[in-house]
Amino acid sequence: MQQNSCQPENPGFAAATGSVVIDKVETMLVDLPTIRPHKLSMATMSGQTLMLVRVRCSDGTVGIGEGTTIGGLAYGGESPEGMKLAIDTYFAPEMIGADANRVPALMARLHKGIRDNRFAKCAVETALFDALGHRTGLPVSELLGGRLRDRLPVAWTLASGDTGRDIEEAMNMLATRRHQIFKLKIGRKSVREDVAHVAAIKKALGDQASVRVDVNMAWTELEAHHGLPGLVDAGCELVEQPVASVDALARLTGKFPIAVMADESLMGPATAFAIARNAGADVFAIKTEQSGGLQAAQHVAAIADAAQIELYGGTMLEGAFGTISSAHAFSTFRQLQWGTELFGPLLLTEEILTQPLEYKDFHLTVPTTPGLGIQLDEDRVLHFRRDRPRKVVGPAATPAV
Ligand SMILES: [Mg+2]
Repeated sequence: MQQNSCQPENPGFAAATGSVVIDKVETMLVDLPTIRPHKLSMATMSGQTLMLVRVRCSDGTVGIGEGTTIGGLAYGGESPEGMKLAIDTYFAPEMIGADANRVPALMARLHKGIRDNRFAKCAVETALFDALGHRTGLPVSELLGGRLRDRLPVAWTLASGDTGRDIEEAMNMLATRRHQIFKLKIGRKSVREDVAHVAAIKKALGDQASVRVDVNMAWTELEAHHGLPGLVDAGCELVEQPVASVDALARLTGKFPIAVMADESLMGPATAFAIARNAGADVFAIKTEQSGGLQAAQHVAAIADAAQIELYGGTMLEGAFGTISSAHAFSTFRQLQWGTELFGPLLLTEEILTQPLEYKDFHLTVPTTPGLGIQLDEDRVLHFRRDRPRKVVGPAATPAV
C-alpha cells in the first residue's frame, strides 16, 4: 500500500510520545537578590522576581518555564505577579487535558484564546518544550529545528551608575575570561555626561573589549543627534534603542557610523516586519519573552535574515530557565552576528539549579541533554518562594475560644 508521503508512519516516535496529556499546571514566584543595584534609565533593580511555571504530564514528564520582567512594570505591561495570575486563571484551564506532544497546536490555541500576554506565553511554551524534550530524549534546540552552535558569546552589562566601579568590574570580567563585550546602560544623566562616561570606559579597556550602549529609549531624537557622534568618537560600536519612537529610530539608522539596534520596539513578528519594511534598524535585539515565545523568536530572526538585519540575543534579565531556553532558541538562528547578553543568572546572588549553567571563555554552553538540560534545586527554591511559610514575629496569637 502506498503511504502518504506528507505523513510518513513513525512508530518509534508514536511509541515514545503517544497519548500524553497535561495533568497539572503550577506557578510560583521566586524572589532573588542581585549582586549589586542594576541601574537602567527606567528603573533601578536590587532584586529579580522569577515566575516559574511547572507543567506535569500524564506520563510523568515535567517541564519548567520562566517569566521575568525588568523592574516590575517599568519595562512593559506584564509583571511576574500578573503572569502568575494569567496562567493560573486563564492558561491552566485551557491546558489541562490537552495533548502534551502537540506543543505548536496547543500554543496556537492559547494565542487564539488569549490576547497579548507574550511573556506568560513564552514561559508556558518553554515548559511544554522542556517536558517534550524529556519525553523524546531531545534537547529543546533540536525540537526547535536544530542548533547551529553549542556555545554563545555573552556580553556583560555595566550598570552600577559609577564610571570607576564599571571599569573595575569590566577589568575583572576580562581577567577571569568571562566577558569581553560590554553594554553600558546610559540615559539617566545628561547626554554630555553619558558620552563622557562611555569614552572613559572605552579608553580604559582599549582594544581588549568592545563597548556598546543601551539608552532604553531615554533620548529624544534631538538628543540622539547630539549623542551619537560623541559615541562614535568614543569608540562605541552599537547603540541600543536610543529613542522610543520607531520612526525616529529609522531616521537615525544609517545616519552615523554606529550600528543602531531595536529592542523595546520589537514585540514579536508583526513589529519586526514593520521595522524591517522601513529599514528601521541595523540590528534586532531578539528576546524570547518580548517575541511571545521560542518559536516566535525564531520567526523574528527569519524576518531579520530576509531583511539583512543583523541579530543579537537579548535578555529580560531572566534567571536560569529563561536564560537557557533563550540559549536553545538563539542556537538555532542562522545568523547571530552580535552574540548574546544571556548573563541574567550571573546578576543574581543565589543559585537555584542543582548544576549551575556553564559560563567559560566568554561563552555560555548550550546543554545537549534532554529538554532544557538543567534541573531545579527544589530544596533551595523553597527558601526563596514568595509563598514560603514565615515565622510570625510579635505577640503570640490569641488562643481560640
Ligand atoms: Mg535594551
